[in-house]
Amino acid sequence: MTLQDLQKIVYDAGIVGAGGAGFPTHRKFSDSVKQIVVNAAECEPLMMVDHHILEKHLQALVDTLNVLLDTMGADEAIIGIKGKNMHLLDSKIVASLAGTRVSIHEIPDIYPAGDEVVLTYETTGKIIPEGAIPVMVGVMVINVETVYNISKALRNGEGVTEKYITIGGDTKEDITVKAPVGIKIRELLETAGFGDLDGKAVVNGGPMMGKLVDLENDVVTKTTKGLLIFPETHSIIQRKRMPMSMTLKRASAACCNCTMCSDMCPRQLLGYDLHVHKTLRAASHSEVTNTESFLQSALCCGCGVCTVIACQQMLDPQAISMEIKGSLAKHGLKRTNNKAPEHVSPYRTSRLVSSSVLIDKLGIRKYVKDHVERRDVAFDPSRVYIELKQHVGKPASAVVKVGDAVKVGQIVAATAYEDLGTTMHASISGKVAEVNDRFVVIER
Ligand code: SF4
Ligand code: SF4
Repeated sequence: MTLQDLQKIVYDAGIVGAGGAGFPTHRKFSDSVKQIVVNAAECEPLMMVDHHILEKHLQALVDTLNVLLDTMGADEAIIGIKGKNMHLLDSKIVASLAGTRVSIHEIPDIYPAGDEVVLTYETTGKIIPEGAIPVMVGVMVINVETVYNISKALRNGEGVTEKYITIGGDTKEDITVKAPVGIKIRELLETAGFGDLDGKAVVNGGPMMGKLVDLENDVVTKTTKGLLIFPETHSIIQRKRMPMSMTLKRASAACCNCTMCSDMCPRQLLGYDLHVHKTLRAASHSEVTNTESFLQSALCCGCGVCTVIACQQMLDPQAISMEIKGSLAKHGLKRTNNKAPEHVSPYRTSRLVSSSVLIDKLGIRKYVKDHVERRDVAFDPSRVYIELKQHVGKPASAVVKVGDAVKVGQIVAATAYEDLGTTMHASISGKVAEVNDRFVVIER
């Protein structure tokens, strides 16, 4: 198989980064890749999707990695997993990897171990330059579920129609389910037995980086990884609900310029020129003359360590930094003085944030269960809403029209192959009921 064949198969299958980023995977393949780093860190508390896939499908993942290595001419694949989760891996398969190009690398139980800059450093010792992508240091970072989706596409041309999702938080039990892409989140929770949401709010993603769910409108996409339920009054929900105007007012009134938010930043600790306290001061004090204070937000990964761990004034530098980062992207503004870090901070080791500390700081210890069950739930939605933009890049355009009969797995929308984007598939068989700017709606 050529690199071009592989790219086309993965584009046709609609595969994007399943860990939450949504970058079209076929665009990551390159003959410049020398090392594939599989992101099995799953470092946001309460999430169990990747671990369940690793537990059940490790051999399929290894086989797929070998195909990727051959096709790209890469040297090795490294599965980066926390030592505490090694027991989930089939020991016979792990033993069989000795001396092969695929290896397992134990990473420390820190947050954010899954940030691609941190993960690349922990697994390869390389630091991705500021503003660069991993391939610039010969690395491709790929999520566990993304590799699994590639394995299905290679095996039988299967497109992405289902998504693994952990449901947990303030619940009697936590489970991981496989749900059709496009099902309404409220319907998914009700069918799975989590429909009693009185006084609760739902976060799509982890407690650190996830977003609040709009239960009336939000649907499962290819990047939905966790649905975490918390009381409305929990600080996680309160913080995510706070309007930016209030976040800025609080910062203006209470920031003491202690610089702890910058000092604890995982990317700054790897040498990035990222000083989020300056961003926060500039934004909250309307100091608009120093553009660098704003442009450096492009280097932020939104991990939230500055907010949850560092700031003793309970301010939210993460939200301010990410708001500015989003605005920069929207207006096409780029930072032009990016550098390749030369030194890791000598304080890095002592400032790494353990998962256990994070859980306590978030106030979610009581929600951590001993066991998260992988459960087969028969989802049978009568309607699915296939979003046209579930990925980084250009939205897909519908290739079907109202009234068309479609079969599960059929492509219903696509971004042109030359553009950054992907394809979308029907997740149920039925008729196209509606096509609008956001969705292709399919009715059973
Ligand atoms: S969210 Fe805060 S700690 Fe995380 S990368 Fe951005 S500035 Fe650094
Ligand atoms: S840690 Fe909080 S108080 Fe200190 S500089 Fe950062 S935002 Fe201001």
